[in-house]
Amino acid sequence: MAERIALMSEIKVPVLSKSRAVPFLEPGAMAHSKPFPAGPEIQARLGFPDKLVPDWEKVAVNTLGDLVKQSRALRVFLDSCVKCGACTDKCHYFLGTADPKNMPVARQDLLRSVYRRYYTFAGKFFPGLVGARDMTKEVLDDWYSYFHQCSQCRRCSVFCPFGIDTAEISMAARHIMSSVGLGQKYTNEIISKVHNIGNNLGLPEPALADTLASLEEDVKEETGVDVRFPLDIKGAEVLVVTPSADFFAEPHIDGLIGYAKVFHAAGVSWTLSSHASEASNFSMFIGSHSNLQRVAVRIREAAQELGVRRIIVGECGHAWRVAYNYWNTLIGPFDFLDRNYPIPQHICEFTHDLIDRGALRFDKSVNDDKVVTFHDSCNVSRASRMGNHPGGQFTIPRAIIRACCNHFYDMAPETIHEKTFCCGGGGGLLTDDLLELRVKGAAPRMNALRQVVEEHGVNHVAAICAICKSQFAKVLPYYQFPMNMVGSVHGLVSKAIQLGPGIKRV
Ligand code: SF4
Ligand code: SF4
Repeated sequence: MAERIALMSEIKVPVLSKSRAVPFLEPGAMAHSKPFPAGPEIQARLGFPDKLVPDWEKVAVNTLGDLVKQSRALRVFLDSCVKCGACTDKCHYFLGTADPKNMPVARQDLLRSVYRRYYTFAGKFFPGLVGARDMTKEVLDDWYSYFHQCSQCRRCSVFCPFGIDTAEISMAARHIMSSVGLGQKYTNEIISKVHNIGNNLGLPEPALADTLASLEEDVKEETGVDVRFPLDIKGAEVLVVTPSADFFAEPHIDGLIGYAKVFHAAGVSWTLSSHASEASNFSMFIGSHSNLQRVAVRIREAAQELGVRRIIVGECGHAWRVAYNYWNTLIGPFDFLDRNYPIPQHICEFTHDLIDRGALRFDKSVNDDKVVTFHDSCNVSRASRMGNHPGGQFTIPRAIIRACCNHFYDMAPETIHEKTFCCGGGGGLLTDDLLELRVKGAAPRMNALRQVVEEHGVNHVAAICAICKSQFAKVLPYYQFPMNMVGSVHGLVSKAIQLGPGIKRV
């Protein structure tokens, strides 16, 4: 892809090109890329050692042994690679950086080599023959660098004939590193903020209440309609949990306004919760089940405390993956919720159902200044589903966009749906200490975007993930696209939805 290289700031930005080529290998090109490590206080708050433990090699190997005992999937992933090479050119970080250690199979081998050394017969007795390695400081340094160059997007697993999931291997490696006292600052600090304050942004309850009150005023001024943004309302029908980015800034907040308008138009009572003011759960990125459970359980507690009958999740990719895949076993059963509705339900499923039933009215022409494309977020596309038919996670958001926009074009088929390219900032990598990686890793998505910009005049990218939206706002300018080109799907809904008399209530 990178036919030539251009400079922007300190970062060599891949130049987008019509011919899609696998880059020439540049061994060690990203060996310097490492996120800041978590400080002792943050580590301790998550239940991890506050610094590298003295016998860390032994602890790391034992933790790996525990993980493969607990997860048959992990053991199968480590045992079954045949080095066919099908995954090698499928990772956006490899395509954007040319570093061969960013090929998925090479990334897996960083952990697999240690697994073989300590947990396979051949690796114990003939390590040189099977690529087995001792757990050393050099190996740990490699892990810290390259397992923080994997956004756990699972694209490689779609192309692997055995479905080997590098995301699971990457989560295991990060869990081992945290367990020996080497955590990553960005993810672990955010998890710690959720434990302490309740959300990723560290937004306390009074500030949240103020934000919601001012949103009510803004929407009243804009529409003349009393659209509510309720907080901690007991007896509401629906609890909405959403990424705290939705409370904060554009383009996220436009999505929240869209949710509120949909609830208003549908006449369905809803509430946010100050106790569960965060849908995101970064614990998944570090493979920490205890933290995953501790963060998620607030949502169950809030739902029970408020007496709601349904839980709806806002626009957040990995939060939906956690909700869809793990909530039931992690914080269930949800026998106190109304089983006539999906448990949990995605905000797109809710809005789409209303559209299907003719319960919402739109004036599409208000979005005529936009030629829209949709970015499928990895965690929604490859790790969850929506609706009651296969592929609903692809068709439902697009149906919503088409209901409120006249001009929509998809990006190239090999870059959407289950083959979507990561935004470059997922999996706990959305931090400025990894900006070079984020910019380079965004190149394949930016290249697909370039194509629809040139062919169809696309000027707006809609997404349903807070991380994708933040990442795009940051990296779009590196590729000469305007940063405000990205928006929420429910931001489009918000603009086009018709409120007031004449709407059909459900
Ligand atoms: S999971 Fe995604 S980021 Fe990780 S190696 Fe596979 S394609 Fe790359
Ligand atoms: S596609 Fe699967 S089996 Fe082939 S090299 Fe990659 S991980 Fe190994």
